[in-house]
Amino acid sequence: MELREELRARGGELVVRVGEVPDVLEELWKGTGFKNLWSHEETGNFRTFRRDKEVKSWSEGRGVEWQEIPQTGVVRGLKSRDGWSSLWKRRMAQPLTGTPERIKPASGVDSGHLPEPREVGLEETTKVNAQKGGTKLAWETMQSFLLERGVGYRKEMSSPLTGETSCSRLSPYLAWGNISVREVFQSTRDRVMDVRCAKEEGRPLDKRWAQSLSSFEGRLRWHCHFMQKFEDEPEIEFENMNRAYDGLRENEFRTDRFEAWCRGETGYPMVDACMRALHQTGWINFRMRAMLVSFASYHLWLHWRQTAVFLARHFLDYEPGIHFSQFQMQSGVTGINTLRIYSPAKQVADQDPDGVFLRRFCPELEGVPKVYLAEPHRMPGVLQHKVGCQIGKDYPRPIVMHREAYALARQRMGEIRKRPEVRAESFKVQERHGSRRRARRRSR
Ligand SMILES: Cc1cc2nc3c(=O)[nH]c(=O)nc-3n(C[C@H](O)[C@H](O)[C@H](O)COP(=O)(O)OP(=O)(O)OC[C@H]3O[C@@H](n4cnc5c(N)ncnc54)[C@H](O)[C@@H]3O)c2cc1C
Repeated sequence: MELREELRARGGELVVRVGEVPDVLEELWKGTGFKNLWSHEETGNFRTFRRDKEVKSWSEGRGVEWQEIPQTGVVRGLKSRDGWSSLWKRRMAQPLTGTPERIKPASGVDSGHLPEPREVGLEETTKVNAQKGGTKLAWETMQSFLLERGVGYRKEMSSPLTGETSCSRLSPYLAWGNISVREVFQSTRDRVMDVRCAKEEGRPLDKRWAQSLSSFEGRLRWHCHFMQKFEDEPEIEFENMNRAYDGLRENEFRTDRFEAWCRGETGYPMVDACMRALHQTGWINFRMRAMLVSFASYHLWLHWRQTAVFLARHFLDYEPGIHFSQFQMQSGVTGINTLRIYSPAKQVADQDPDGVFLRRFCPELEGVPKVYLAEPHRMPGVLQHKVGCQIGKDYPRPIVMHREAYALARQRMGEIRKRPEVRAESFKVQERHGSRRRARRRSR
């Protein structure tokens, strides 16, 4: 809606069509005979990759010149990861393209109506507290982060409580193209310079800014680093990045476990609160995403493919390149990352010791004393009765016991990681996708 208004203010028009892309292009082409097709360059799912191949062959058949414009630091057709970081920096430093003052509308083309979600096959959303879209909001969100909210970013990003305001919250805007990673990078650079000047000139400024901005800049590079993996090997939407892990979880999928995880009813409050938060908002911070996946992949021993698809549908910021690469990393099937199995109870102690976040999203735990909040099933029966939270009735029993599930997962992962074929494959994965910075640190 905002884009339509912005275009109209410049004399242009947003034309909307719903359908298979080659059919829509054919209809528009017959009406106008256009000769050039411009689109953004996308690192998308297999489905959109297939669509792009169809568009390519349609364009060639009609003599239309199709140009895709890169939007991020992802390099198409990259031969080797060596030197990628410099290419990324060069991309980020390129000047931004200005917004045109006037736009000529296509004559004789009906603008079409903006479809309701159900017209494009989407269900009514459960996300009552989702961020709203649009470029104006994207800019406001970025400014409030760079000038105010982001001061404690470095320390506060890991808690779902403080992360809600201390993280930038730019991910949906980046994923949907309301703002580009280059715009965010350049604004961050300006702010870094501001902070440096303030220090040199002795102006009062919170000392935490320098470190917080540096952590944030690093993550903007990660955005493209992870997407580049997917661009280079789109098969990781379906296949293990390290094929020597094939067979590890494939035949042990338990639907009851999967469904309890999806509903946020595992009996572990931190896991359940995060999942329910996602249902309502479509966002959760990085550490809690990692914990959700670690719980599903290690404690419940679920294959990452089904859990990844489920979360992709719930993340407002779903970005295939980041999503599948991160999923594989947090599930331990890349062979190049440190094994991280999170304890949901420890995450409560570290990230929400007073249980504010937990009680917000699991209201049935309202009366549970703080000492039992992380593992309410440990409450004595009398106390459960007294506080009105009976385990198995008001709040679920744990679907697995942490200690045993954790030990078993560690043992299984430890065994497979030692195998020579896994190590050989891991070496290839590092060559193809690994961060060169980390490799340099290791070799030093
Ligand atoms: C299993 C799993 C799945 C994920 N799926 C997605 C996804 O589909 N889309 C998505 O945008 N992010 C994804 N992330 C990465 C990260 O959790 C989110 O980018 C972040 O939480 C978004 O909130 P923010 O914009 O406030 O982040 P901030 O912390 O403010 O970071 C700023 C930006 O940097 C980038 N970024 C931050 N952390 C990472 C990271 N670890 N890897 C890559 N880029 C990062 C994002 O573009 C983010 O918007 C996933 C992480 C995990 C563990």
